[in-house]
Amino acid sequence: MSKEGERVTFAVIGGSQAHKFIQGGHISRERLGSRETPFGPCGVIYLAKAKEASFYFLPRHGEKSYSIGAPFVNYRANIYALKELGVKRILAWSGPGALSRKFSPGDLVIVDDLLDETKTRQTSFFQSRGLGFIRQNPVFCPTLRSVLKEVLEEVGTHFIPGGTYVATEGPRLETPAEVRKFALLGGDFVGQTVVPEVFLARELEMCYAVLCYVTNFAEGIVEREFREGVLFEGLSTKQEQAEVAKALNLFPEIMLQVAGRLPQVENICHCQESMLRYKKRGDIGENWREWLVP
Ligand SMILES: [Zn+2]
Repeated sequence: MSKEGERVTFAVIGGSQAHKFIQGGHISRERLGSRETPFGPCGVIYLAKAKEASFYFLPRHGEKSYSIGAPFVNYRANIYALKELGVKRILAWSGPGALSRKFSPGDLVIVDDLLDETKTRQTSFFQSRGLGFIRQNPVFCPTLRSVLKEVLEEVGTHFIPGGTYVATEGPRLETPAEVRKFALLGGDFVGQTVVPEVFLARELEMCYAVLCYVTNFAEGIVEREFREGVLFEGLSTKQEQAEVAKALNLFPEIMLQVAGRLPQVENICHCQESMLRYKKRGDIGENWREWLVP
C-alpha cells in the first residue's frame, strides 16, 4: 500500500490501446503533461492513483488516439523523463503479431528475448562517450517478469511465460518473406516497439519488462483476403479482434496488481547496477544526467 507523499518509482508505458486506458474510468489520474528533456519533449505523462499504489502512465502512441507511429515515438525523451521523475521500474505493453500458429490473437505473453530489426532508431543515450557496452542477458528484467507472472496466475488468465519478440522499424507491416525470415531466426512475435525502450532503460539503470498481447497473425501465417478500409485490411477477423479486446480489458487490473506488489518486492536482477563498472572505473559519477554529456 502506498502512503500519501511516498515517492512513485514505477511507471507503465502503454501501447496501441493505451489512450482508451486513459479515457476509461478505470483509475483516477492526474495529467502531468509533457516534459522538456535534452532530447526534446516527451509524451504526455499521467499519475495514476489507486489504493494499491500510484504509478506514472505514459501512453506511447498519444493520449487521445494512435497519433504517434512506432518509429516516430521519442523514446529517449520518454525514458529520460521517467528517470527524472524518479522511476526505477518500467512495465511496458505491446501488441505484436504472431509468427506462427502456436499462438492466437488475444494470447498474453511475457516475452523473454529480443531480435532487433529496427533500422533508424537512436538506441543509446551515450553518443561520443564510449559508454554502454552492457550485457543483454537477460534482456528483460527478471524481477518484473516474475511479479507479472504471479499477477497473471492470480488473475487466473491463460498466458505464455516466454517468447522472442522481433522489433521492426514500421510503420508499415511486414512482408510475407520477412515474416518467414523472422520465424526462421527464432522469433515468435513481431512488433514495432520495445526497441529501443528496453536498451535505453538499462542504460539509465532502470528495470524494464513488457507484457504482450497477440494482436493478429503476421502476414502469411494464415490465409486472409485483402479487405479495403478496415483495420489491418483484412489481416485480422472480427472474432480475433474480440479476443484482443477481451485481453486488453484485463490490463487495468494487471497494472494495478503489479503496482501494488512492487514496493514489497526485492530485486532479483542487476538492471539497477548496469553502469557500475563505469562508476568503479571513474568514468562517470552518481549523477546520471552527466553520463549523457560528452
Ligand atoms: Zn530489474
